[in-house]
Amino acid sequence: MDSLFEYRNCPNCGKDDFTVLLESNMKEDDFQEDIATVYMLPGDKYGRHVKCRNCQLIYVNPIEKAGKINQNYSERKNVDASIIQESRLHAAKSQVGLIKKYKNSTSLLDIGCGEGFFLSNASKTGYTTKGIELSQDAATYAKREFGLDIEVRHFEGSQFPENCFDVVTLWQVLEHLPYPLTTLKQVYRILKPGGLVIVSTPDIRSTTARIFRKRWWNITRLHINQFTTNTLKDILENAGFKSMSSVCYRESVSLLMLLIPVLRYLKVYKSPENSLYGKTMNKLIMPYPSKIISCTVLGSK
Ligand SMILES: [Zn+2]
Repeated sequence: MDSLFEYRNCPNCGKDDFTVLLESNMKEDDFQEDIATVYMLPGDKYGRHVKCRNCQLIYVNPIEKAGKINQNYSERKNVDASIIQESRLHAAKSQVGLIKKYKNSTSLLDIGCGEGFFLSNASKTGYTTKGIELSQDAATYAKREFGLDIEVRHFEGSQFPENCFDVVTLWQVLEHLPYPLTTLKQVYRILKPGGLVIVSTPDIRSTTARIFRKRWWNITRLHINQFTTNTLKDILENAGFKSMSSVCYRESVSLLMLLIPVLRYLKVYKSPENSLYGKTMNKLIMPYPSKIISCTVLGSK
């Protein structure tokens, strides 16, 4: 079993001094399961959560080997793309609106762009966009549906020169990365001076996290770093960024996405997105402020 795992020093400050907050509830067999998108499903499987005594970051330790994690993401299928499309496109408008206040119609890189919902909106609004995505399936969807320019690879393997983007975004990506500081340092390198980084990740001090506690849907096998606004600002600062500010945008969820966990629980889940009731429920979009689940921070180089 040990060969499946690797131990990490704190992925922010590098110290190895922590208290255990939550023991893992996973069994060996659970690691064989494919990863899939889940819909706010409370009470998932999760690894051992610890809190760094030095910088307060909450992270999972040990984690599945980084190579295995990357392989899981590269094999991830986009079976849920048609379900999440409506709500993701709604949220993307607000995300792009947020960036426009700071940087208009410039070059933008989205790391972990998934099916390209955010990027397609940014591209339509005048940004010169590029995406990086590990999942071959998601990238194929983004290219086919939206004609986007996407590299299918690990971000660390990309060869962007220094100072080449005006804006770099990471939407719900940092919580998945074994070495988030390394990634953010690379982001710093490829941003132009005065360039903007925007990072959004689940906030373990958010209202929903406090209500649901260990049954919060963001406490899951896939999330191996748990940030707060403060620890997110801290790691960005360690990567070199300055002028950090905490922001909020309008997130969206469809009624269908909220109900899928219930349908699955009742075992009546069979591609509801293809049925009339599923299509109707997917058109019913409920907006909410991103900060009730996530922290979002802007920084500049
Ligand atoms: Zn630390």
